[in-house]
Amino acid sequence: MNRLEQWRAAGREVSVAGLARSGFAAVRLLRAYDLPVYASDNGSGDEVVATADKLRAEFANGVSVETGGHDLARISRSAALILSPGIPPTAAVAGSAAAAGVTVLAEAQIGLDALHGVRYVAVTGTNGKSTVTALVDHLLCHAGISSVAAGNIGTPLSAVAMVTPKPQWLAVELSSFQLHDCPDLAPTVGILTNLAPDHLDRYPTLEAYYADKALLFRNAAAGSIWVSNLDDPASRQMVAGVAGRHLAFTVADGLRADAWYDRVGGVMMLAGRPLLSRAVLPLLGDHNVANGLAAALAVHATGINHARIAEGLASFRALTHRMEPVREVHGVLWINDSKATNVASTLVAVQAMTRPFVLLLGGRHKGEPYTALREPLRKHGVAVVAYGEAGDLVEADLRDAIRVVRGEAFEECIAKAEALVPKHGAVLLSPACSSYDMFDNYEQRGAVFRELVEAM
Ligand code: ADP
Repeated sequence: MNRLEQWRAAGREVSVAGLARSGFAAVRLLRAYDLPVYASDNGSGDEVVATADKLRAEFANGVSVETGGHDLARISRSAALILSPGIPPTAAVAGSAAAAGVTVLAEAQIGLDALHGVRYVAVTGTNGKSTVTALVDHLLCHAGISSVAAGNIGTPLSAVAMVTPKPQWLAVELSSFQLHDCPDLAPTVGILTNLAPDHLDRYPTLEAYYADKALLFRNAAAGSIWVSNLDDPASRQMVAGVAGRHLAFTVADGLRADAWYDRVGGVMMLAGRPLLSRAVLPLLGDHNVANGLAAALAVHATGINHARIAEGLASFRALTHRMEPVREVHGVLWINDSKATNVASTLVAVQAMTRPFVLLLGGRHKGEPYTALREPLRKHGVAVVAYGEAGDLVEADLRDAIRVVRGEAFEECIAKAEALVPKHGAVLLSPACSSYDMFDNYEQRGAVFRELVEAM
């Protein structure tokens, strides 16, 4: 019996906290097991209310829905509390349930319970999770294996569990929040992309954040396979001593590992043999060479050969808003990296550039200085168009290193970039800021960029 069947046998209600996409999918899955559900969200925004209405319409019986708060007493009588990925494990609702002895689980865990028997590659890390997850999924599909990308990317695991037939494999992206409450996580292959200080707005300390990441390895056994980053000391430290077979990738000059980048020859190497010429990988930047090597190692470990992996890498396309080449107009390449909402991400993007380029930088300031971009911008940067609430700070931090031009409306910024960019150059939208001063979110910012470029 899996967990859901045990709850059903016990005749207990299950609570779900968080009413967005994953919470909705969790309720559906629990109902498919005939479990009575109490679903609540302490928000009462449009999306939450819409999900609540949808649930009430779909389930006349068996589901109680509440918005604007949680009935903690009712949750304390539940068989379990299922947390949506957006709810931190430290949230009051989780703490109160745990204190009452209620099992707290991530939505991903019940999805995996219902998908028992399906093998999966689990991906976590600070950067590159979505790209590596999408790559793994693409490489598996290209090799003729039915696979689904799920978890933090694409479809919630609870929703995948509702589809028949089940896929042969899953590529699962897991955030640190999700890892916290997946006690039975046991991937066939686990990938740790890298570790870097991040999310300090959500975690009390860096150690606490890393401790959640380390839960990828919580059920490590002799038969486990782990892929990790040789270039990242924090990752190396974390995987040391973990049970299982270890595979490492590197893009550092002169280093070799299970997968590595022969920079002189311009070739990606896998298991001692050439895999793919760098020029054929349709992704910008060394960070994406690393992402490609990580995915290749994982898929190779499942038994797929070099030729299939190489073809798969060559036919992969960048995810939307992540160093995504939108279009070349009169020899100028326009690149959408709207997902870069912090300085570290923009730094990676700037380092990825090989043509002279104009950088669109700005939005709502998040607290970090922009000075880390000064030196890397000197290499290929031609000018920065600084805009949004952060415009003054961007200008002050960068004007000694590079020409900085101010823009107001986003259309005006694009026009200024177009005027400044040299022939055969590029314009990079990699704002290092959040978008909320001018847009709903980074997706909308990237979509507007795309529309303006498409209209050229
Ligand atoms: P995540 O899902 O972990 O946020 P994504 O694949 O969505 O990662 O990439 C988001 C951004 O993170 C990219 O635009 C890029 O700036 C940066 N990034 C991606 N891969 C790496 C990597 N391997 N190392 C460092 N930064 C990376």
